[in-house]
Amino acid sequence: MTTSAPPSRPAPAHPVTFGPITFVPGRKGGRYPYCHSLVVDQGAETWVVDPAADRHYFRELARTRRVTGVFLSHFHEDHRKYIHLFPQATFYGPLLEEEAFFSMDAIFRFMGITDPVFQDYWRRTLIHDFLFRPPANFTPYFPGQLFQLGEVTLEIIPAPGHTPGHSCFHFPAQQVLFLADVDLTPFGPWYGDAASDLTAFEATLNDLRAFPARTFLTAHEQGIFTEPEFRTGLAAFHQVVVQREARLLEALTAPQSLARLVARRLIYGKVKQPRFVYDHMEGQMVAKHLDRLLGQGLIARTPAGFQRLP
Ligand SMILES: [Zn+2]
Repeated sequence: MTTSAPPSRPAPAHPVTFGPITFVPGRKGGRYPYCHSLVVDQGAETWVVDPAADRHYFRELARTRRVTGVFLSHFHEDHRKYIHLFPQATFYGPLLEEEAFFSMDAIFRFMGITDPVFQDYWRRTLIHDFLFRPPANFTPYFPGQLFQLGEVTLEIIPAPGHTPGHSCFHFPAQQVLFLADVDLTPFGPWYGDAASDLTAFEATLNDLRAFPARTFLTAHEQGIFTEPEFRTGLAAFHQVVVQREARLLEALTAPQSLARLVARRLIYGKVKQPRFVYDHMEGQMVAKHLDRLLGQGLIARTPAGFQRLP
């Protein structure tokens, strides 16, 4: 079966409101190191979701509103870039990732970074480019938990796979679902951390198929989807996983080492820089497919490398 990719459009250039919820487009079209953010404004108090869209926007928000809550969908740096602008707020992040909001070592563990040179590079990147610092007030959230601000209810919808605690935020009264990094991009699902889980990600995609909402918001690229666009976009997004696995099986008609598979960029397609970072992410993602194919008995590990079974 093939699913034709839906027509995608760029994110809007300016904030878009859905009642009390404002979608704030991230810089660079919401591409890394930025993401689209949400603001929930109820007058006396304001909440922010994944504040990494735009420094100027959030500086102004911090100057003019009383931001009391910052909700983080998961620990990734491109979703917490501007948390330092809200030192008075309470930060809410997934219980399963609590350590990664405080500790570099926990981040390395989640990501699977063991090489000291890579660790040093990543430490400097987080401090210099993302102003990493542990939040003063942190409260972990858990699946199904409800938070209330004025007329707005925020419900935690667990969506594991991208990271273990990755969560979507549902606003039932507004019929809005923030999908975070179930981002429906043409690239497809990203599971490049050691703690990412391909099978859990696919289960999340299946669970979301019938989700009752009218507006679906993502953290990257297009950003705003109507319900029909979401249904088509989700199917195409899921199909990317199937296509990756087909390319991998094709490559394994002859035995291949993991290093050789990584060099072929079956996932990323092209070589991006810094190369060792992309080697790491490509390797993590390919390895998850290999593990699954080994478990299914579709490939074998031979002295010459991984090989497809007849
Ligand atoms: Zn992420």
